Amino acid sequence: MAYEVGEKSQAWFERATRVIPGGVNSPARSFRAVGGDPPVVMARGMGPYFEDVDGRRYIDYLAAFGPLVLGHANSHVVQAIKDHVDEGTLWGTPAPKEIELAETLVASIEGLEQVRFTSTGTEAVMSAIRLARAFTGRPVVVKFEGAYHGHSDGMLVKAGSGASTVGTQDSLGVPWGVVKDVISLPYNDIAILEETLAKIGDQVACVLAEPIVGNMGIVPPKDGYLQQMKELTHKAGALLIFDEVITAYRFHYGSAASLLGVIPDLYALGKIIGGGLPAGAYGGRYDVMQYVSPLGGMFQAGTLAGNPLSSVAGLATLEVLQREDPYQRMAELAKILEENILEIAQEFDQPITINRVGSAFTVFFQENPVYDYTTAKMSDPVKFARFHRLMLERGIYLAPSRFEAWFVSAAHTRQEIDKTLEACRESFRELS
Ligand code: PLP
Repeated sequence: MAYEVGEKSQAWFERATRVIPGGVNSPARSFRAVGGDPPVVMARGMGPYFEDVDGRRYIDYLAAFGPLVLGHANSHVVQAIKDHVDEGTLWGTPAPKEIELAETLVASIEGLEQVRFTSTGTEAVMSAIRLARAFTGRPVVVKFEGAYHGHSDGMLVKAGSGASTVGTQDSLGVPWGVVKDVISLPYNDIAILEETLAKIGDQVACVLAEPIVGNMGIVPPKDGYLQQMKELTHKAGALLIFDEVITAYRFHYGSAASLLGVIPDLYALGKIIGGGLPAGAYGGRYDVMQYVSPLGGMFQAGTLAGNPLSSVAGLATLEVLQREDPYQRMAELAKILEENILEIAQEFDQPITINRVGSAFTVFFQENPVYDYTTAKMSDPVKFARFHRLMLERGIYLAPSRFEAWFVSAAHTRQEIDKTLEACRESFRELS
């Protein structure tokens, strides 16, 4: 029997579609790519679980697309927000918590000498690019196909994540004038980057990359790729920006850049640093950050930037991550999932590839290695959609896109992993 979203979810979604386009406030939440809407409407989250408005429970691997590294409603984070909220929610002045969070980020992210908060990852990337253009006096941005850097105009060229899931990699409404200086190259191909920079390197302000891509599914860099990227970028006189909106504090207490041994000139940050409340940030080299207004002439601002409650939630999340250091345990649980899913798929003759880094991985429904957007796109959309439904029916919530990651959080235990593997076994059996 085909899985049906519960009656209350359906009713809420019907109301949503009357007042919100497509019924969702971000296209990546829609179920259009996985057999069709309505999506499940959630009522609450607790630890590694979600509960929908019909009272059905799911093990959550979405983690709200990345921020919820501690799972839902972590007691330390919730208490910190409660303790602070009586003081007010926004002041429009400098405030201790945003300063403490800035200090915490600077202390734990290598190469982050100064940082400026925004409200979203989109703004963080947008501002880092503007800063690179201001610093170098050059127009061109080099980025990579299938990566996602938020929804600012210039970044909606060959974009990944929700943009590729719903078939709008190149958005309508973005004028040519805005994107003519944005070049998208295949990821993990150093020869193409070298060729491009040899031709037009003197016009390039920055090379922008997710150091471990999370938005065409998880795609790690090939050995030496990021180091060569940095050398070529600097040889061209451009800045290297790492978009670590997903990756910072996901794999260890710090940036993916330090894990990989390649430190960029600038970072874009978001998701985990807001502990589930809206936050983004950009920063890096001190000399470059001196261009930011009111010190320098690169203007960037935000009524909600450095929001006290977001700062409190971010600080509480980082405190727990530093104190409990759950990374190895999370990675071990993800490894158990990876190894067993591969085995189960083989048993039922289903060709899959899994890319995993630490606690994040993607199951691609094809058997060849996935190292760029072209190979990621080979993941069978119909099979993924069926698998997604079968897992949902068994109480496992995966992102509704073949281009997203499964995130294991610090709240997951062996019990959830075993239940997930049981669901995988039944789902692959039905698929075959
Ligand atoms: N950069 C990356 C790598 C992302 O994954 C995202 C969001 O998924 C963004 C930027 C945009 O962040 P936000 O959705 O907070 O604007």
